[in-house]
Amino acid sequence: MSTKATPESSQGVRTSASSHSHPDLLDLARHLSAEEQERLQRIEAYVQENVRHQSIEPWHHEQLPIDMLHGLGDLGVGELFLDGSSQLFQGLAHIAVARADVSISAVVGIHNELIVGTIESLGSAEQKEHWLPGLRRLRTLGAFCLTEPDHGSDIAGGLATSATFEGNSWRIRGSKRWIGLGTVADVAVIWARDTSDGHIKGFLVPTDTPGYRAHKITNKTGLRIMQNAELELDLTLPESALMPKATSFAATSEGLRGSRAWVGWQAVGAQQALLDTARHHALTRTQFGKPLASFQLVQTALATMAGNLAVSTAFMGELARLQEANQLTMLRATLAKATLTRLARESAATARDVLGGNGILSTHEVAKIAGDIDAIYTYEGSYGINMLIAGRELTGVSAFV
Ligand SMILES: Cc1cc2nc3c(=O)[nH]c(=O)nc-3n(C[C@H](O)[C@H](O)[C@H](O)COP(=O)(O)OP(=O)(O)OC[C@H]3O[C@@H](n4cnc5c(N)ncnc54)[C@H](O)[C@@H]3O)c2cc1C
Repeated sequence: MSTKATPESSQGVRTSASSHSHPDLLDLARHLSAEEQERLQRIEAYVQENVRHQSIEPWHHEQLPIDMLHGLGDLGVGELFLDGSSQLFQGLAHIAVARADVSISAVVGIHNELIVGTIESLGSAEQKEHWLPGLRRLRTLGAFCLTEPDHGSDIAGGLATSATFEGNSWRIRGSKRWIGLGTVADVAVIWARDTSDGHIKGFLVPTDTPGYRAHKITNKTGLRIMQNAELELDLTLPESALMPKATSFAATSEGLRGSRAWVGWQAVGAQQALLDTARHHALTRTQFGKPLASFQLVQTALATMAGNLAVSTAFMGELARLQEANQLTMLRATLAKATLTRLARESAATARDVLGGNGILSTHEVAKIAGDIDAIYTYEGSYGINMLIAGRELTGVSAFV
């Protein structure tokens, strides 16, 4: 095919450039109420203006830009789990944040799904009253402490942190690894195995409790803003620290099902950012006297990314309807998490190629996003473990060991 631009094709480039300036290729937001559409636009505007470019420096320096979280808290992004928002609105809000920065989206998503969600679903009335007001506004931060240095994928059977009830208090001893916000959180949701009945139980622990020690994990190649930590725990807690409904691994698993689906929304937001960045570069970089966007191979790359994005968006749009009907099965959640992070990884490699040498500079966003996608491919259960859970759901046969 000739690369000479016809009037139609050159107009086509211009038209598609403007008509797709919003990257939701399927326009899922049309299903929201007018009020939720307006709220989503405010969040999108805030993160594009205050997070997207501003997060690059803190990402390089592994710093948490707390003012961005406060800004999101002021827009109600810390209370999505509690404020009656539709599932679709919650998902589109997560997309908007992930499109601007995947680390900030990881903080906000874990906050909603695993901190606020766990306390609301499993905590006592006193625990909710004490912690939720600050958490709702993102002025109080939480850490979800499940993974351990020696137990990642096998955490359900292997969890070794112990909880012993000693008269009128709990003694918690053990260590944790990869804990998001572990060094900066105000409250920790800590999972430990009760030495009396062998069940995994959940405790709510202020991080200034003596015996809570956190060490930041440095040199990550993705989610560098997220402040992951290794914890050493030797805690004495009042009886009331136990969350009344967090008395088995089934309670943890329930929350993890929702948070796996949430990673799917993150993968959509990250793919939107890859597409905007690669498309902008293709339209503005000239080689052989023409914009990169005029070359067939580059258009194929962009169209492949757009196809991955459209498929991912459609999956999550339908998943939101199923969640609304309380039909988020483990099969659906694991397929969303694993499949969409796989597609996002493929798109990250494609976008990185479109940027040429600039694709390895994190100042051009694509390398930063690619590193972040590699991290979300692993957390909330690695790709392989999510596929094994899906395989077990499909066949009724466990292939873990
Ligand atoms: C950036 C980041 C943030 C995180 N945040 C948190 C957090 O806030 N709180 C928290 O509790 N945890 C957190 N995690 C931990 C995360 O959930 C674990 O990293 C994840 O579950 C994998 O565990 P692992 O790293 O120990 O890998 P491993 O379990 O050692 O697995 C290594 C590899 O072996 C494969 N594998 C393992 N077992 C099998 C098997 N039976 N069959 C086939 N393949 C297998 C896995 O798929 C993987 O590819 C975070 C992790 C990361 C990277």
